[in-house]
Amino acid sequence: MKPHILIIEDEPAIAETLLYACNEVGMLTTYCTLGQVGIQTLKTQAIDFVVLDVGLPDMSGFDVCKQLRVFSSVPILFLTARNHEIDRIVGLEIGADDYVTKPFSPREVVARIGAILRRGHHTHTNPSRAEFEIDEMQRRIQFLGHYLTLTRYEFLLLKVLVTSPKRVYSRDQLMDLVWIDADETLERTVDAHIKTLRRKLRSIDPNTHTIITHRGMGYSLYA
Ligand code: CA
Repeated sequence: MKPHILIIEDEPAIAETLLYACNEVGMLTTYCTLGQVGIQTLKTQAIDFVVLDVGLPDMSGFDVCKQLRVFSSVPILFLTARNHEIDRIVGLEIGADDYVTKPFSPREVVARIGAILRRGHHTHTNPSRAEFEIDEMQRRIQFLGHYLTLTRYEFLLLKVLVTSPKRVYSRDQLMDLVWIDADETLERTVDAHIKTLRRKLRSIDPNTHTIITHRGMGYSLYA
């Protein structure tokens, strides 16, 4: 199976060298220059990896990443021109897997893509795939074969957690990812929703400890 790489980059010269390097090692590629087009592509095509420029004409790569993470756990590698952007990426606050600073060697980018994709294959045995099933069309989630009755935000919150099992999200991150359209959200709103989700999961399996609290850090699905 050839991995399908989506490259979102508005500078044609940079995109071309990347496309060439990816195709050279047998990867399939799709290329676009706008963040919005990239997000749509992710929704409609099977993409295994995203290479994402931070500075795009229509929106920042950070915002693209944030919007992608609501519905996709696809690995993301950032292309960044400015050093001060790196702090945010390295902290993985925005859900990126890796980054390279321009100018970069296309071969290095391809090597990193390969490494992250290989790493990803090992997590496929994840128990969440068996325990949870997300019905995107109907916006419902099954837990151990039972449909959960969820409010809109509970659905979005659980979806974020299920999509990236074991990843620890801070309350801030969850507020950004889940309460996108809310004017103001408080940390205790996140806590309250986590509490309700736990209660609902326990109504199906009284012994379940699927949502883990990481003191001072946040929450994850599974430890
Ligand atoms: Ca750019």
